[in-house]
Amino acid sequence: MGFLEKLGFKKKERLEDGVKKSREGIMSKLARVVAGKTTIDAQVLDDLEEVLITSDVGVKTTLDIIDRIEARAKTDKYVTQEELQSILREEIQFLLERDQKQLVSSDLLEKKPTERPHVIMIVGVNGVGKTTSIGKLAHLYKAAGHEVILGAADTFRAAAVNQLKIWAERAGVDIIQQGQHADPAAVAYDTVAAAKSRNADIALIDTAGRLHNKKALMDELSKIKRVMSKVVPGAPHEVVLVLDASTGQNAMQQAKAFTEAVDITGLILTKLDGTAKGGIVLGISHELEVPVHFIGVGEKIEDLQVFDRKAFVDALFG
Ligand code: GDP
Ligand code: GDP
Ligand code: MG
Repeated sequence: MGFLEKLGFKKKERLEDGVKKSREGIMSKLARVVAGKTTIDAQVLDDLEEVLITSDVGVKTTLDIIDRIEARAKTDKYVTQEELQSILREEIQFLLERDQKQLVSSDLLEKKPTERPHVIMIVGVNGVGKTTSIGKLAHLYKAAGHEVILGAADTFRAAAVNQLKIWAERAGVDIIQQGQHADPAAVAYDTVAAAKSRNADIALIDTAGRLHNKKALMDELSKIKRVMSKVVPGAPHEVVLVLDASTGQNAMQQAKAFTEAVDITGLILTKLDGTAKGGIVLGISHELEVPVHFIGVGEKIEDLQVFDRKAFVDALFG
């Protein structure tokens, strides 16, 4: 058993539990598609398309999946529900395969960063789960043996710094803060400087929620980035966008808009536990160039999982 399994962070049951609503939705619809069918005919493909679309997989990804299954149907004619499910699983997993080059946030659970501190800036709109995910990440990284520092660069809302402080205490990591209304770039600067002088492994920078179409706020992100790179060239090494999966196609729109406006390097999809829209994860990870690193499956500190494409598809198409 690997380290992640031992800690329960990659536990199959937790993942299956986390996507329960999505799976139930997909499964009951799939059952209707194949009821009484023995071949993958045009009707089955049509119905399947509807199942995927209504499960928030997204149009492009759905059409790509249907194309693959149609091709497959030429050789695998006869189907039972189990067979259709396993064909679906295989084809979707194939679609999500992707080469990964540089060391990213999810790799850092099993490796030391190549550059220290490895700085990860967390961005996204209000309420998607940025601060919560930082708390969970801090917990994960600490458990992995890394020294972690949090930067409270959401200085906009009164409660934001305190919320991050509580997470820092829970995770048992240090936090750098200057209180509300401080210049977020200055907080980020201090955090990276502290991480550097302490030789910390990872710095996680929280930021205030913002909409991608507010130019001044997007410029502020660029400034925060620029200031950090003065302390550690190359920082931030990652800019991770947090998306609320329960908002379905809205999350897709946010992902597209943000990736156009900022150099997003990875994604965290939260709140999969409360939604039947888990299919959005497939759409987002297929349609965007940016990989999904983690998924949030609950509000507790251990409810963040490394996004494992294969395990996810298995859990979803159960
Ligand atoms: P922020 O504004 O982006 O920093 O969002 P917060 O971290 O403050 O989270 C907003 C709300 O979403 C809080 O009530 C969190 O507990 C909740 N939340 C975050 N991640 C998850 C998740 O994976 N599952 C569930 N159910 N709730 C979550
Ligand atoms: P500009 O002020 O928009 O030209 O951007 P700068 O890159 O000069 O700095 C942006 C912000 O980062 C400043 O307003 C400071 O708050 C912060 N900053 C820059 N240099 C330092 C520094 O040496 N120490 C600290 N604590 N903050 C700094
Ligand atoms: Mg927050």
